[in-house]
Amino acid sequence: MSSFETGVQLFKKLLMKQKNMDAYFANEEDALHHAFPAKATVHSGPFGIPMLWSTARNYLEKKSHEPRRKEALAYVHIPFCESRCLFCMFYQNPWTAEESERYCRNLIREFALWSGRPAQDSAPIKALYFGGGTPTALPPQQLKELLIAAKKYLPLSDDCEITVEGRVHNMTDEMLEASLEGGVTRFSLGVQSFDAKIRKEMQRIDTPERVIRRLEEIAANKQAAVVIDLLFGFPGQKGTAWENDLKIASELPIDGVDCYQLNVFEKSPLNKRIQAGLLEPAATLAEAADMFARSVEVFSSHSDWRRLTNTHWARTRRERNIYNSLAKGSMDCLPFGCGAGGKLSGHSWMQERKLSKWNEMIEKDQKPVFVMMKPQENWYLLRTLASSVESGPFSLKAIGEAFGAEIEKPLKPVTDQWIRAGLLEKKDDLFIPTVAGQFWYVTMAQLLTEALTGVLSKGSVRTEDLIEQSVYSPNQGQAWLDGVLRK
Ligand code: SF4
Repeated sequence: MSSFETGVQLFKKLLMKQKNMDAYFANEEDALHHAFPAKATVHSGPFGIPMLWSTARNYLEKKSHEPRRKEALAYVHIPFCESRCLFCMFYQNPWTAEESERYCRNLIREFALWSGRPAQDSAPIKALYFGGGTPTALPPQQLKELLIAAKKYLPLSDDCEITVEGRVHNMTDEMLEASLEGGVTRFSLGVQSFDAKIRKEMQRIDTPERVIRRLEEIAANKQAAVVIDLLFGFPGQKGTAWENDLKIASELPIDGVDCYQLNVFEKSPLNKRIQAGLLEPAATLAEAADMFARSVEVFSSHSDWRRLTNTHWARTRRERNIYNSLAKGSMDCLPFGCGAGGKLSGHSWMQERKLSKWNEMIEKDQKPVFVMMKPQENWYLLRTLASSVESGPFSLKAIGEAFGAEIEKPLKPVTDQWIRAGLLEKKDDLFIPTVAGQFWYVTMAQLLTEALTGVLSKGSVRTEDLIEQSVYSPNQGQAWLDGVLRK
């Protein structure tokens, strides 16, 4: 199988050849396996206009003195892992005691840097997410200090969802206790697979037995939601291994599961091993589609599991998935840490990824902005469209009305064809993805965003987007829950 990047390039070339709405059409023969020639992107959304280093920093410095009018999210990045997993492109630095201590000190300094400024303080933060890397690679006491400092410097709402991402391996009793004392309401744990051979090849540390036992113990605390990630498409995972992963996950007493597809990136260690013939190829798109469809069948067949998004399932009411749902949309998100990303009034930025540079900048009291994207025209509308399609059932009529624009009619040639191809069904104003549509959701979100960008650039549709009135909340989770589609 070719790498993820090769597929994206191939797709882009095909799109460039065709200039009308046909460019976005899907294959009508076999939508689940072959709707499109490749995946279009990892995360969908509109483009922006890049600004670098000091230009970006100066711009953002000014923005930090402008109030936020709405609730926001906050993201804290921990750029350390104990070891590198074979498939991962997010690995940054090995954990060391010395670097960890300096990092935590500086992270607290970054929380304090904008404290008192309107962009940070003027409206509550609804969800706070510690991601990475591996936040649980930190010593428990350091993580607790960070959680306490975040509460001190950030205006967290009373019912703020506070997530800590981590590995089961690090979830000792001390870690659990420190996290709960620090106010964590949700653990997002990367399990990936319960298969011993596959875990070993992925270079995951624990045995399946230990992972299962520990998940049961952590879930028994009932004070915080326990959510796991399951990866599908890894070499050798088809058939029994995946079936077993789904069976174990769906029967565990945990609160949520996210099933996500493996992307084999060109420069990943995994791709190198496959190219060297040391591992069999990863699942093809068609094989991954079958694995996804099986996950939908398994979780739908359990009456205690309910669907929150195309890929995310919840078993209890403790799992709210607030950060992940809202971060895809247009809501502001304040980023902290080395390699963190966030956005403010449509301006999205990445922070310095090199640890030494990030430390240096924080020690000079500079916000460590690396690159910023100024929003393209109609950013709010396009961002809302992309996130709505990514999450589940969506209403073009309601999105259009929220922005004072008629968008359903100009996109009708595409949505009609997708219905013919078997990617969507229509019920009243709601477009409901079929299982095939649920598998191709990112590609569909990107294509619809690009199709609408084309329509808007011709000026035939006018919008009220620039006044930032947006934050249309599509509430797709509710649409799944209302039983619009359980299959
Ligand atoms: S622990 Fe997570 S971030 Fe670190 S290498 Fe493994 S998958 Fe990547």
